Amino acid sequence: MKNRIRKLRDKLDEKGLDGILISQANNRRYLSGFDGSAGYLLITLKSSVLATDFRYTEQAKAQAPKYEIFQISGRMAEWFPGLVADLNLSKLGFEAEDVTFTMHRELSRIVRKVKAGTRLVPAGGLVESLRAVKEPEEIGLITRAVEIADKAFEDVEGNIKAGMTEKEIAWELEKAVREQGSQAVPFDIIVASGPNAALPHHKPSERKIKTQEPIVIDMGAKVGGYCSDLSRTVYLNIPPYKEDIYNRVYDTVLGAQLAAIAMIREGMTGEEADHLPRLMIQDAGFGDAFGHALGHGVGLAAHEMPRVGPNSKDILTEGMVFSVEPGIYLSGWGGVRIEDLVVMENGKTRVLSKAKK
Ligand code: ZN
Repeated sequence: MKNRIRKLRDKLDEKGLDGILISQANNRRYLSGFDGSAGYLLITLKSSVLATDFRYTEQAKAQAPKYEIFQISGRMAEWFPGLVADLNLSKLGFEAEDVTFTMHRELSRIVRKVKAGTRLVPAGGLVESLRAVKEPEEIGLITRAVEIADKAFEDVEGNIKAGMTEKEIAWELEKAVREQGSQAVPFDIIVASGPNAALPHHKPSERKIKTQEPIVIDMGAKVGGYCSDLSRTVYLNIPPYKEDIYNRVYDTVLGAQLAAIAMIREGMTGEEADHLPRLMIQDAGFGDAFGHALGHGVGLAAHEMPRVGPNSKDILTEGMVFSVEPGIYLSGWGGVRIEDLVVMENGKTRVLSKAKK
């Protein structure tokens, strides 16, 4: 934690900020260790305070020993002045992506009252950029979450039969990840069969699985707050002809995915990493059918920095964990997506997911 706070202070210093109010839940947890569902951090160049209400003060003391705990209750106007009164802040950063319009209005009123001339400065993304680079313990937790999802997928995949509904399969997967020790499912499991597989984020329905149609499964697990994310596409029975559309689509997606994993290097931007697999899918004649990014960072959130897709200038660096998940979606027919998590290590990717393809 000390290290994380120090890095954040360096960033505050760079931006000429006296402090920052952290309101985003995962950022709060990342910087303090406190995993309660409510509270704020106020981090200045010299002090670090965790403000939370009666329900959480004991937990906060235990989980965030580096912080001064400040008990709050009621509306911001009632406690925020007391928190900032003695700090003599001139420029206070806030997390622009997280703060609502109403909260911003209230904050501005308060800081102006406490000290004339105090400015609120939007400072989003600071903690997110720290979070993007994982420490070894974080990679350990993600690896465990990956193993759980791999095992759950392989256990359930073998039991999928024609006539089961998408919802039934999703529930089997959810039970399996929980039984393997996942704290929760980090996002709703996707089971998309037949034409539904053309919808990248389809919600499992009562549709019954048939043979000889693609079934896209997208699932994850959570360990110590850290998520995993895994997609596989399966098919009941062997496609009858080698030139079957399923084989063509599957091989194209798999080829693009393996090529991306092999060629992504440290120092590339997200858009550079996305370029080759996208080109391969285009060359195979499915250019318009890959409508999402190649991947995304994964950590305390199932989707976080870095962005790995068109127009992403995020630079991929040592310690980043992200997904590589090209897909092809054909309206009326179905789709194929294959997703693994990788960690950037010694300049190149190491694949964490082991579930069979
Ligand atoms: Zn994903």
